[in-house]
Amino acid sequence: MTEKVFDVVVVGSCMTDLVSKAPRLPKAGETIHGHKFFIGFGGKGANQCIQAARLGVKTAMVCKVGKDFFGDNYIQNFKDNGVHTEFVKQSSDAVTGAASITVDDAGENAIVIVAGANMLLGAEELQEALPAISHTKVLVCQLEISPQTSLQAMCMARDNKVKTIFNPAPAIPDLDPDFYRVSDVFCCNESEAELLTGSSVASVEEAHRAGQELLKRGCGSVIVTLGPQGCVVLKGGESTLKHVPAPEVTAVDTTGAGDSFIGALAFYMANHPHMPLEEMARRANLVAGVSVREIGTQTSFPYRRDLPNEYF
Ligand code: ADP
Repeated sequence: MTEKVFDVVVVGSCMTDLVSKAPRLPKAGETIHGHKFFIGFGGKGANQCIQAARLGVKTAMVCKVGKDFFGDNYIQNFKDNGVHTEFVKQSSDAVTGAASITVDDAGENAIVIVAGANMLLGAEELQEALPAISHTKVLVCQLEISPQTSLQAMCMARDNKVKTIFNPAPAIPDLDPDFYRVSDVFCCNESEAELLTGSSVASVEEAHRAGQELLKRGCGSVIVTLGPQGCVVLKGGESTLKHVPAPEVTAVDTTGAGDSFIGALAFYMANHPHMPLEEMARRANLVAGVSVREIGTQTSFPYRRDLPNEYF
């Protein structure tokens, strides 16, 4: 029988990024020549799971890909990163989620996302993964799959006293209020906090105010990430401003920084359950800070061996 005890289980999305670089974005109906093409592994769920795995915890991914080349390839990518794949299901009814991305020489982009098999992940797959979801130390969910599936997974975890991290990304305006109730840590970026609260979030003080508003909705703690400014951390019952600055780094590509942060946070919550949340956030800032120094999403996420001992 498969060992079902994991440190971190992620229920979420997998996307294959098909990236073309071209001198400019094509107009409607136009075909132009690009000068570079590459395929990357993405999807917020998979990114977060892979960052946690690279830091050295036992992880499992619960997701759905197509029965196609991209799906096979993605399963191999999980295996290469040491992620358990028993709950990565393949469907013939939809394609593996894909993002067609065109980036021009000025860095401007045009993106078409087809969620595909991600949207077919539902109650049946969660039921199969229940032994993993109910025994893990930490469960992580986002919103690139059906919100109903994410909420159900979080409820299953909570019913079994499993710690939950919820990342409301991409943000939706009418988020089911139950998401707050089942989140031990509700972790969002500035634009997500803005959409969820309806208030501007452009400074540390505004992020703190938005965090207080989100905290009132019922979650255990809130983290609002602020790019180069790090993050703010708010815990129930505390009203003082806790700003955790990020290290100063020369950022080359910040794609996936939020996912690196959340994967690292899940790692610390699983490995050091009694560490203060601020300290976990400080270390997650350091890990995400390494990821922004390299181009790419998963390709820029650090491994345990790349980081100094004091990160662990
Ligand atoms: P998202 O990728 O979701 O937009 P953020 O931009 O808030 O999320 O970044 C998440 C985390 O990544 C930040 O809290 C910080 O730790 C790190 N980070 C992002 N950009 C930078 C940067 N320019 N310098 C240092 N750290 C960064």
